[in-house]
Amino acid sequence: MVEPKYLKEIYRAYEKGIPIVGPTYMGKTIGVNKATAYQALQKLASTGYGMYLKNKGFVLNENGKKYAKILMRKHRLLECLIVETFGLSPCEACREASNIDALLGEKISKALEEKYNHRRVCPCGNEIPEVKI
Ligand SMILES: [Zn+2]
Repeated sequence: MVEPKYLKEIYRAYEKGIPIVGPTYMGKTIGVNKATAYQALQKLASTGYGMYLKNKGFVLNENGKKYAKILMRKHRLLECLIVETFGLSPCEACREASNIDALLGEKISKALEEKYNHRRVCPCGNEIPEVKI
C-alpha cells in the first residue's frame, strides 16, 4: 500500500501551505528516487485523489483531501494512544503510528474516536483534522 504514505505527506505539505507537490519534493520527503515518486503521484491521480499538473506536480482534489484528512486523523489519534499508553516520545510514536495507521480496522478506529475525540492537537502539536462525513 503505497498511497497512504504519500497522501499523508501531501497533506502535511498542504498544511504547510504547499498545495502542489512535485516528484523531487516527494522523493526527498519519502526517501525514494524521483522516478519512483513520479510514478506514485501519477498513480494517485489515476486513483481519483487529485490531478497531476504537467511539469508542476500533484494537487489534491476534494476526494483526496477528505481521504487524507481521515488518514491523518487516524494517525494523530493513534499517536495520542501510543504516547499515553506506552510512554513513547512524540517522535517515536509518530514513527510507530506511521507503520500501522492505514491498517486500523473499524473497531479500533471507533474506539480511538471515542477516547480522543476531544483532542485538537497530536502529541507533536499538529492539528488533528476534523472530518465531516
Ligand atoms: Zn505523526
